[in-house]
Amino acid sequence: KKRIAVMTSGGDAPGMNAVVRAVVRQTIASGCVSYAVYEGYQGLVDGGDMIREMAWEDVRGWTSEGGTLIGTARCMAFMQREGRVTAANNMIEKGIDALVICGGDGSLTGADKFRSEWPSLMDELVSSGKRTEEAIKPFRHLNIVGLVGSIDNDLSSTDATIGCYSSLQRICQAIDFIDATAFSHQRAFVIEVMGRHCGWLALMAGVSCGADFIFIPENPPSKNWEEEMCSIVRKHRQMGKRRTIVVCAEGAHDRQLNKVTSSMVKDLLSNTVGLDTRITTLGHVQRGGPPCSYDRMLATLQGVEAVKAVLDAKPDTPSPVICIVENKIVRKPMLDAIAKTKEVAAAIERKDYDAAMRGRDAE
Ligand code: ADP
Repeated sequence: KKRIAVMTSGGDAPGMNAVVRAVVRQTIASGCVSYAVYEGYQGLVDGGDMIREMAWEDVRGWTSEGGTLIGTARCMAFMQREGRVTAANNMIEKGIDALVICGGDGSLTGADKFRSEWPSLMDELVSSGKRTEEAIKPFRHLNIVGLVGSIDNDLSSTDATIGCYSSLQRICQAIDFIDATAFSHQRAFVIEVMGRHCGWLALMAGVSCGADFIFIPENPPSKNWEEEMCSIVRKHRQMGKRRTIVVCAEGAHDRQLNKVTSSMVKDLLSNTVGLDTRITTLGHVQRGGPPCSYDRMLATLQGVEAVKAVLDAKPDTPSPVICIVENKIVRKPMLDAIAKTKEVAAAIERKDYDAAMRGRDAE
């Protein structure tokens, strides 16, 4: 019987538990044995009780749970080859040769490295005397499938990452709450949202809530953004608006890559426009809480597809990542998705904002 392990890694995202549930149950339904690796790559390196067999009922009710119940971690040991040798040995200990990983681009980069190194890791286990050639034989090929769990919606090749719509929903709800009090006192609010180098959350929240101005890393405002923003806000006020909302992505900067901070924006609104201005940094409320229906559905459909991809895999086919493109669940080459994501970051670094926007738009 094939043994398939599931793991959540990197930053947590709503919908990760729904992924684990779907993978565990599809694994069992396919006649295979299901395992969960606790605490991300750290659990793989620590082994033992951190890699546990999962039963059907172990994941009951997990679709609606926020965060990740099997834990996640940022693991330095896995960045080193020594840690990956130990991780490989722990997997063999449990008889596992297939891994479904739900995480961000960092986790998927680690996964791809693990798989490409796998044959040499096996050789090392034999040459160091930890395992015999005979014991290694059934484990010559590691099978890896990626699922993208991230609130940032920052991975190229997929229209939506698992968690991004839950986070967007939470941000919009928070802005609605702030809107009411801003209206009452005619105040301005600068809302800082997460997203790392990606402006998707800020842009979509700004559009959804009718923000006056939005700062995103991929498309910084004009050179004279200070004047531009103040004149737009003034104009909106003259048109009768009683409240001002400016959404600022945490990775926002100007066209010269100088950071644009919430406090810079607040000072302009206070001192230049003369508005009573407050900053609200939404923080981790954006990450927690139950997943929205879309993320539950996406996680479930993609979790099922991940197990199917494990069972279809051939030794020489590249590792897939499960994506959603134009409402269809599809498999894409994992390396390609990571490379395209890195290209967007590189385009921003060299101030090629047209390329950055094209990269985000591209499939
Ligand atoms: P995310 O998956 O959310 O992008 P990180 O970038 O923190 O989060 O990656 C999660 C974990 O994946 C890291 O703590 C590390 O254990 C592993 N990882 C990331 N990049 C690599 C890499 N190049 N090689 C090996 N492991 C990596």
